[in-house]
Amino acid sequence: MKNTGKATSHDQENLKNDFSFNEGDHLSSLSLLNALPQQVWTAGSDGKIDYVNDTICRDFGYPQALIIESGWEAFVHPEDITESIERWQEALNTEKEYVTEFRLRFTDGQYYWHLARAVLVKRTGKPSIWVGTNTNIQSHKDIESRKDEFISIASHELKTPLTSIRAYNQVMLRKASDGTIKDYLLRTQGQLARLEKLIKDLLDVSKINAGKMSLNLENFNFSEMLRDAISAAQSVSTKHKIILTDELNLEFTGDHYRLEQVVQNFLSNAVKYSPEADRVLVSTNIKDGNVIVSVTDFGIGIERSHLGRLFDRYYRADNSSSRFDGLGLGLFISAEIIKRHGGSFWIESELGKGATFFFKLPLEADHPIQPEIKTKINYKDRYLSISCPQDDDIMYVEWTGHQDMRSVKHGGALMIEYFKANPRSKVFNDNRLVLGTWSEASDWAAEVWLPLMELAGLKYLAWIFSASAFSQLSAQKSVDNEEKTSEILFFYQADEALTWLRNINQK
Ligand code: ADP
Repeated sequence: MKNTGKATSHDQENLKNDFSFNEGDHLSSLSLLNALPQQVWTAGSDGKIDYVNDTICRDFGYPQALIIESGWEAFVHPEDITESIERWQEALNTEKEYVTEFRLRFTDGQYYWHLARAVLVKRTGKPSIWVGTNTNIQSHKDIESRKDEFISIASHELKTPLTSIRAYNQVMLRKASDGTIKDYLLRTQGQLARLEKLIKDLLDVSKINAGKMSLNLENFNFSEMLRDAISAAQSVSTKHKIILTDELNLEFTGDHYRLEQVVQNFLSNAVKYSPEADRVLVSTNIKDGNVIVSVTDFGIGIERSHLGRLFDRYYRADNSSSRFDGLGLGLFISAEIIKRHGGSFWIESELGKGATFFFKLPLEADHPIQPEIKTKINYKDRYLSISCPQDDDIMYVEWTGHQDMRSVKHGGALMIEYFKANPRSKVFNDNRLVLGTWSEASDWAAEVWLPLMELAGLKYLAWIFSASAFSQLSAQKSVDNEEKTSEILFFYQADEALTWLRNINQK
């Protein structure tokens, strides 16, 4: 939380007015706030801190006026400042709950993890005061990190004997002449490979949680990496034929080993979740400066309601948890690897018919989005076009191709800019040309973009779906905001959307 202005000393009268307490209530409320073991603070609607309770003064070891004057950032761990300020700014802009975690420096010089939350209290409909608490969650963090440490140590310790067992098994396989014994040893080899994968996944998750999964960037041949991943998956799958449908010859800069791990994970899932099928298709292509890889199977498929959550830690769809073994970690790890390469991922699936898992990686890291047209009323780049005709009361927006976090944030910000520059209340948001979609951007759209569009005057939004089911879910999640003040409808047909918008008679 940034205290941008000059300090306002704690003013009891002011606090009394804000809460409209009577004198007796007010005094008992203050002693109540001071008696709380939790840190409590308030800030004006402009974000300036104007009250901190006694617990804060005790924890930080400074008097109230000094804490208010020096601002929060003086006590926040340097690594946590940027995110906490960004979230605070976002809360101030959107007037939505502020939630963040940061480390605070106490009077003993140590940092302790806190969960900060604040809500805006309105008086007679107008924003009046932010009331916030910081809860010490250090013991919870300690338990989490002990659990991760245990997982990390246990998986390290399990790895060593497993490597020896695998080596002995290989020797026995070479020496065995009896067909039945050979068969058993081969089965043992298969089970050992599965055990190794589980241990490796647990190790990776503990690395991700500890923020220690780093990338080793190098130049490598992407196509060769794909072929290697395919032949590794093929060697353990007797029933399925894994077919690479498009060949590319592509040099790429990234973490070779980690990206191969992603492909192998998609491939082993494709084989595992299609026990009745006999083929898996892998395809690659280059589009708009990105390489896109897809893995298609013809297996059990995924129910629509699970699509958005499969990349969460330990998440498994109901139809697979009892029939197939696994920990629900592979996709979580893959998602983390892709995100760290600046890419995104998505799924298309029909229950009972199969699934296609996609991931997309930018060929040039962080290439800027160049506009082709930029006037005050029209905008166009390769992801999006916006048009605000002057004789119309609708803003027309068309999204094109594969979208990721960056292109959605960029396009969303432009929509707000153009909507403000050309005041109106209706938006025609056309997603028909969206091929694959962003994974995390929908949360940003629901929490930040939609409230800002509403502040800029949005009242009616017609959203025309892309054909991609994953994209449709993201679209719905983007407007999944209980406090929304605008009316938002989804359409499959563009002409129906236009008819709806045009027939709205505004009050
Ligand atoms: P695991 O396979 O170990 O459970 P993953 O993280 O790799 O963990 O996958 C998470 C869940 O996603 C799986 O439990 C399964 O429900 C679903 N899933 C993944 N790939 C497929 C696929 N190709 N077809 C159907 N469901 C899949």
